[in-house]
Amino acid sequence: MARERVLSGMQASGKLHLCNLVGALKNWVDLQDKYDCFYFIADWHALTTGYSNPSSIKGSTADLLINFIAAGLDPERATIFIQSMVPQHAELHLLLSMITPVGWLERVPTYKEKQEQLRDRDLSTFGFLGYPVLQTADMIIYRAKHVPVGIDQMPHLEISREITRRFNYLYSSEVFPEPEGLLTEFPKVVGLDGRKMSKSYDNAIYLSDPPDVVENKIKTMMTDPARKRRGDKGSPELSPVHHLHKIFSTKEEIEYVAQGCRTAEIGCLDCKKVLIKNIFAYLEPIWKKRKELEGNPDILFDIARKGSEKARLVAEDTMQTVRAIMGLA
Ligand code: SF4
Repeated sequence: MARERVLSGMQASGKLHLCNLVGALKNWVDLQDKYDCFYFIADWHALTTGYSNPSSIKGSTADLLINFIAAGLDPERATIFIQSMVPQHAELHLLLSMITPVGWLERVPTYKEKQEQLRDRDLSTFGFLGYPVLQTADMIIYRAKHVPVGIDQMPHLEISREITRRFNYLYSSEVFPEPEGLLTEFPKVVGLDGRKMSKSYDNAIYLSDPPDVVENKIKTMMTDPARKRRGDKGSPELSPVHHLHKIFSTKEEIEYVAQGCRTAEIGCLDCKKVLIKNIFAYLEPIWKKRKELEGNPDILFDIARKGSEKARLVAEDTMQTVRAIMGLA
């Protein structure tokens, strides 16, 4: 029996950090054995907010591809491709934009939120407003049944489902299944300062950080402010270090450092050393694979080319039907 299709992508805007790895990429790796997975690098999406300074997109695309493979995505088991190498996405974006009411796009919560967050950029563009239309095209062109999402991303999927329903209704067609969220409980990874780990907060541990940088970042990471001196007792719940222990350390280690923190039997550096050991163990296979791939760009190019070829065939098959439905062929 054919496996159901899953589609997901990551925007080529900057380096990947530990939260992206634990929260999304590891899940993608698990899904590739159960579903027919299509994973892509969204380089066009990067232009919706970064159009005035596109110089980093190529580098970000290459770095994402390295991380995909280093984290365990397998081009033999999943289709890995680059959005701009499948021009059919743009064609479907254009056709869907004919049927999408502007009011729907203006009401997407992230439209206003992002404009607020990125006040230094002019985001009053057609491309930025139409971002959800491109995102919808990305999903439905592969007739994907599932899109892996965290609970907070569920509303973003709704606009894509609405656009899909409108297409199917207008043309009395069932060509596109409505994409469904594949809900996954992602552990939330806090950053070095206790806030959500994010590129924009400059509080992240990146997969491209060398070991000495990772070690230094953890050593200087925020702790419970009550532990000013070695003899001060602390509350692990108030320390972002402890939060990371809960993701990367064993049950025994978590108990040991929590108890040591509360009683001041261990210092913050002792506690952080356990975390450093465990994060190193988690990242070491990825660092090793990254190094191999960095020295061999041809392999990466080959993966992107073959994956994009395969994606193009599927996308073109869908577009032939869409063109006929919309009176173009
Ligand atoms: S001992 Fe560990 S958990 Fe407690 S404050 Fe220090 S770093 Fe944080």
